Amino acid sequence: MALMTGDEYIESIKALGLEANLMGAKTGTLPDHPLVEPSIRAVAATYDSAQRKEAASLFRVKSSLSGEEINRFTHLHQSTDDLVNKVKMQRYLGNVTSCCFQRCVGLDAANAVYSVTYECDEKHGTKYHQRFRDYWSRAQTEDLVVDGAMTDPKGDRGKRPKDQADPDLFVRVVERKSDGVIVRGAKLHQTGMLNSHEMIVMPTINMREGEEDWAICFAIPTNTKGIRYIYGRQASDTRKLEGPKLDVGNPIFGGQEVMTIFEDLFVPDERIFLCGEVDYSGLLVERFAGYHRQSYGGCKVGVGDVLIGAAALIARMNGVEKASHIRDKIVEMIHLNETMFACGIACSSMGHETMAGNYEINMLLANVCKLNVTRFPYELARLATDIAGGLLGTLPSAKDLEDPVAGPYIKKYLAAADGVETVDRMKVLRLIENLVAGAGSVAYLIESMHGAGPPTAQRIMIGRQADLEGKINLVKSILE
Ligand SMILES: Cc1cc2nc3c(=O)[nH]c(=O)nc-3n(C[C@H](O)[C@H](O)[C@H](O)COP(=O)(O)OP(=O)(O)OC[C@H]3O[C@@H](n4cnc5c(N)ncnc54)[C@H](O)[C@@H]3O)c2cc1C
Repeated sequence: MALMTGDEYIESIKALGLEANLMGAKTGTLPDHPLVEPSIRAVAATYDSAQRKEAASLFRVKSSLSGEEINRFTHLHQSTDDLVNKVKMQRYLGNVTSCCFQRCVGLDAANAVYSVTYECDEKHGTKYHQRFRDYWSRAQTEDLVVDGAMTDPKGDRGKRPKDQADPDLFVRVVERKSDGVIVRGAKLHQTGMLNSHEMIVMPTINMREGEEDWAICFAIPTNTKGIRYIYGRQASDTRKLEGPKLDVGNPIFGGQEVMTIFEDLFVPDERIFLCGEVDYSGLLVERFAGYHRQSYGGCKVGVGDVLIGAAALIARMNGVEKASHIRDKIVEMIHLNETMFACGIACSSMGHETMAGNYEINMLLANVCKLNVTRFPYELARLATDIAGGLLGTLPSAKDLEDPVAGPYIKKYLAAADGVETVDRMKVLRLIENLVAGAGSVAYLIESMHGAGPPTAQRIMIGRQADLEGKINLVKSILE
């Protein structure tokens, strides 16, 4: 099958008949709901971009499984160049959408499952790798969106899965059948779940002996019977229901996070890629997280470009563009943004081949990348807030701008530099607000902190990967 266009992709999601609970009601068949629609447009951009001549080399790539041309969002990386191009592609899409485009989680899951199943088979004589190749060939050929589902509710963080008051707080196998397993539990915060055809479910932590029921990895279509979805709220989300696009900030695109519940879901054998091999659960978590920590060195940088542009534009509109401290703050924003990009590119360039033949990022640098991402977007947001001024928090509504009484006052008193229309100034302010305090801040700030694990998870990995003894030995050899 040829690569889908954005419209074809949207039709293919409509055909799934997915529904969710959203603010006390059923959504009806998605993605027609106005609160959800911007999120599917962002995913559609991953398809439309592949149709654009200028972006073809980033988005179109030859499959290692079929030899056919596929979208890079389903590619198993075959070189460090592939890893670098993934990050560049993500930056491009951050520029296009200024939000989370929701398609990299499945890509990161696939690359992790591909190599971990190979290594698990080598040790345990299991048959997961070929199963996964068969499964992923279809995802590539049909140009699917696949959600990567790792995060369990986790209950009491101080307790192991089997010691929780409710064992379902980590996804687990509750029954084994001759042709598959029954699974119960939930995955929280699922990015783009309702814009996905399929999901890959993975364990959320390293499981130990005695926790075999929780060491489960599988793939399932999103419209399988036995799955329930509850839509997550974002700051200012109901502005999307109010009418005027101006107040939304990002008038076209948005993100989506969904709570996903498995109510005794049947998973057939051919879709299971780990089941009880506790010694490979931790490796899967680590590899998925590594690829995903690389991802943030592209997508958040792309959104950062938009925020920097908006800060520079509002400074121009406010008449402070040439002030030295403003120029310095813009330079600082660029410096922070490019530092994250440099880390994304570095962990890609320093990648290596896995036993299965796909390429993995440099783990230490991917963790350095993500640790920077837990901080720098917050500093970019702080600087943009400084430059934009207090209107960021007090701007009147689009409806008041249209009002015959209030409108003229707004136009008169919110005028700034010569030649700037008040409405244009308001649009830029709303876009900045969207990223630093509105719906867009869920992906730009909160996800930068927690997505692919909170900062401590990266610190642990950095501590493990940094070869401290090697550094101590350097000192010893210098001092000899
Ligand atoms: C916008 C957004 C999108 C996301 N998208 C996805 C997605 O698509 N797929 C997916 O699988 N996940 C996704 N996530 C989930 C993300 O990976 C988690 O939020 C992250 O791993 C943190 O887990 P948590 O939210 O349960 O927080 P917690 O684990 O509760 O962490 C909160 C704090 O407690 C600390 N802590 C936690 N456990 C312990 C412990 N045992 N001992 C000491 N300290 C501890 C942490 O270090 C942190 O400081 C997303 C998250 C966000 C915010």
